[in-house]
Amino acid sequence: MTDAVIPLADLRYAAQVPQIPAQLHAPQGWLADRLGRPLRDLRISVTDRCNFRCSYCMPKEVFDSQYKFLPQSSLLSFEEITRAARLFAGHGVEKLRLTGGEPLLRKHLEVLIGQLAALRTPQGRALDITLTTNASLLARKAQALRDAGLQRVTVSLDALDDAVFRRMNDVDFPVADVLDGIQAALRAGLAPVKVNMVVKRGTNDDQIVPLARHVRDHCGPGVVLRFIEYMDVGATNGWRMDEVLPSAQVRERLHAVHPLLRLDASAPGETAERWRYADGGGEVGFISSVTQAFCGDCNRARLSTEGKLFLCLFASRGHDLRALLRGDYSDAQISAAIGQIWGEREDRYSELRGQGGAVPQDGTRRVEMHYIGG
Ligand code: SAM
Ligand code: SF4
Ligand code: SF4
Repeated sequence: MTDAVIPLADLRYAAQVPQIPAQLHAPQGWLADRLGRPLRDLRISVTDRCNFRCSYCMPKEVFDSQYKFLPQSSLLSFEEITRAARLFAGHGVEKLRLTGGEPLLRKHLEVLIGQLAALRTPQGRALDITLTTNASLLARKAQALRDAGLQRVTVSLDALDDAVFRRMNDVDFPVADVLDGIQAALRAGLAPVKVNMVVKRGTNDDQIVPLARHVRDHCGPGVVLRFIEYMDVGATNGWRMDEVLPSAQVRERLHAVHPLLRLDASAPGETAERWRYADGGGEVGFISSVTQAFCGDCNRARLSTEGKLFLCLFASRGHDLRALLRGDYSDAQISAAIGQIWGEREDRYSELRGQGGAVPQDGTRRVEMHYIGG
């Protein structure tokens, strides 16, 4: 156990109320930030609560019974989320990812999914709607989510061994229930199911090969495993570089047992490097957020549980969209404000850190993963 866990004062995060531009330019269906990056992907956190206490995300020492989660009145309502998503779609967002905390803890989530599924891009296309979950409630909810219009799910799963998994989620949750959730998602037609494993050296790196083998031999081509480098998000997980196992080493370990061949990236802004088993056993991905920054084509914005817009996972300041959504502002005004915020974006935290350069530090606390959703 590390001694670097930093207790939180309940400050939440600095945010400024966005300015409404004097000239309200109608959305053009695309935007570019200062580094020429479009806005394509909106991640929406629907709750800051979670029934797990993964040590790298919500360490028990901090997120205990005394911790004050956001009150219900702070959360964006489904109508507010849908309105925001519609305005983002006007600026070029094509993909929505619901996350949390644990998004399946938000009551009636399928109602929100139904509302989001009715949205269209300026070209008249439906948005791609997906969800990231710990899958603890997925077996029960997969079919209703699919019926409401969810297209795919990403399941977080850090170990196949039950004891290791229970230790990592730190609430003694059994791995079998997560595996059942994955099967339920497949049955409901939520394929391909992506399974994300955060690899922490010395904690679960012995699970790389067993989990990969389980997915390739027992789950079929509808499930794709992706390995994620343990990141220095937030300020509570006591992150240390020596606990990061670089993707290159994860790949070497897997390649030694099941030889791998590289695939082309499927889409610009794709975070995972894609590989396939040489023997036709399917595909695996590697997300190297620490050792190989992908800020250059980062097209993601993040909307927190209480409606703050963050332009980077490592940001410490958000833009208080909720103030606009709950104020007396028209769609045109809020849309123009969003356009202006994205137009001024120049975040590239991982790239700067990778180059050994100074990363922005303004004295405020970096946003936590359970609040912004990863
Ligand atoms: N509770 C849901 C879940 O676990 O899938 C959604 C929210 S969770 C914050 C989203 C993703 O962030 C998960 O895949 C989780 O493993 C990942 N994550 C959280 N903290 C992380 C860290 N320090 N480094 C890398 N990934 C992290
Ligand atoms: Fe909960 Fe997901 Fe964070 Fe784990 S990673 S504590 S499941 S929000
Ligand atoms: Fe995007 Fe920020 Fe991550 Fe870079 S560090 S890829 S800008 S979220």
